Amino acid sequence: MAATTIVGYCCQSYTRTLKLMGSRFDITVVAENEDEGNQYIDMAVGEIQRIEKLISSWDESSQTSAINRNSGIKPVIVDPELFQLIERAIAISKLTDGAFDITYASMDKIWKFDGSMTEMPSQEAITASVSKVGYQHIRLNKEESSVFLELPGMKIGFGAIGKGYSADKAKALLMAHGVKAGIINASGDMNTWGTQPSGEEWKVGIVNPMNKNKVFAVLPLNQGAVVTSGDYEKYVKFNGIRYTHIINPQTGYPATGIISATVFAPKAELADALATSIFVMGIDVGLNRINQLPHVECILIDENGNVYSSEHIKIEKE
Ligand code: ADP
Ligand code: MG
Repeated sequence: MAATTIVGYCCQSYTRTLKLMGSRFDITVVAENEDEGNQYIDMAVGEIQRIEKLISSWDESSQTSAINRNSGIKPVIVDPELFQLIERAIAISKLTDGAFDITYASMDKIWKFDGSMTEMPSQEAITASVSKVGYQHIRLNKEESSVFLELPGMKIGFGAIGKGYSADKAKALLMAHGVKAGIINASGDMNTWGTQPSGEEWKVGIVNPMNKNKVFAVLPLNQGAVVTSGDYEKYVKFNGIRYTHIINPQTGYPATGIISATVFAPKAELADALATSIFVMGIDVGLNRINQLPHVECILIDENGNVYSSEHIKIEKE
């Protein structure tokens, strides 16, 4: 045959940027034409909005809000999907010795990371804030598919895992519809599959938190997910100490020391949850824990700009 095949000739990538779950999403799909690309992107958006309806703690009508409203009162029957997400969140709490805990949500009132705080909360207020925190107090009943928060005033929130979960689900849905390749980027929670239309691997740039405009490493990413935690704007400083918006569920104090945690994992959900947990665990414990997990790697940056990485990671610095 005389015809030459140009790799990627058939397809192009299409990207849409929009706000979902209160965050910026960039959805990229590889498709044959713009109409097809748009159709696929609509599909991903629909899936993310569906999940938001289920897990939002702002939306009064969500099942998550119903669980929170009934804390200390009664179990709430929920969709198996939400039930299983909570089960997995509890498993991650156990894996991280409680550094990750969706019940952190009852204490989100005393710390504000939008620049409005003028003084440190009192020790009493901090101690009181963790009194309703503890994943051990989430009671699950599999037969009924019900969730009961045992302590009155207890609350759950998916701020540290929801973006990753929805990115995984959107990717799975598109793959099931035969979409060859794409990227779901949920504010830096990246999930890829397939290759670029040119046949090259997708590449992700990891931003240097010390200098946001500078990409500090570029790594190929096929099939997996990479998540960076560390929103440089969301922190508060008291007596020269920088407190991030990730809170240690045991002490009630926000995490200090780490300014950026990037985690590579097969799924965005796990990467998302672990990136958050590392802030609480700190560099040593965090690296140690990541090194024990198969197919999981990390790159951490501390507040002095020191870079640490897990055992198997190869960074080609640019
Ligand atoms: P970001 O992408 O903004 O850095 P993360 O994925 O690290 O976000 O999640 C941070 C969010 O997770 C917080 O804004 C809060 O909603 C929630 N959170 C804070 N502390 C914890 C914790 N110890 N365990 C679980 N979720 C937490
Ligand atoms: Mg996270």
